Amino acid sequence: MLRVGLTGGIGSGKTTVCQHFAALATPIIDTDELAREVVAKGEPLLEALKADFGPSILTPAGTLDRTAMREQVFANKEKLALLEQHLHPAIRTRLQQCLATLKAPYVIIAIPLLIEKGWQAMVDRVLVVDCSEQQQLERASRRDRCPPEQVRQIMMQQCTRQQRLAVADDIIHNDGASESLASQVAKLHRRYLEQQGA
Ligand code: ADP
Repeated sequence: MLRVGLTGGIGSGKTTVCQHFAALATPIIDTDELAREVVAKGEPLLEALKADFGPSILTPAGTLDRTAMREQVFANKEKLALLEQHLHPAIRTRLQQCLATLKAPYVIIAIPLLIEKGWQAMVDRVLVVDCSEQQQLERASRRDRCPPEQVRQIMMQQCTRQQRLAVADDIIHNDGASESLASQVAKLHRRYLEQQGA
């Protein structure tokens, strides 16, 4: 099964593109979703985080208090690295488990920070959703009802458009009308099926 890693900056259109692939019956794995699953209540990882970060990272109900966790790792590189040392292997294991259950010529694995986290080896191809930075700002701030400045802060923590394009095997250009996405996705869908001889 061909593993296509889909990435792109905030507001570039990853979720929208995934919806188009899903409409063609392509299985989608969302690593953000996996990241939530591995720290769900009852997961051993949550206990390990509590041991390392203290009980304040749990809500009274025993679930992960994301705000408390974010406050601890924000502006503390060591703590962030420690969190990632816990999270990344667990996400990778969960991803392998998900992949093992799938039977399809290819799968889209949405990994927003694929390049930033160096996860290229987890996939066979890198598919980048690309648009201008101005469009990212406008779309994400409209979607999240937040000031563009807040989106810009997030963009500054992500790799640049050029860095992403430099490692792309395939590119979806999302700088036009959303209608053109469907035809770009359909074209890639055919290509991925052909590559797998399906
Ligand atoms: P991401 O998942 O990369 O953060 P989304 O797919 O959520 O991005 O897209 C960001 C916002 O922009 C969403 O509200 C989406 O509906 C909208 N959007 C995506 N592509 C287009 C487009 N081509 N034209 C207009 N709006 C778009």
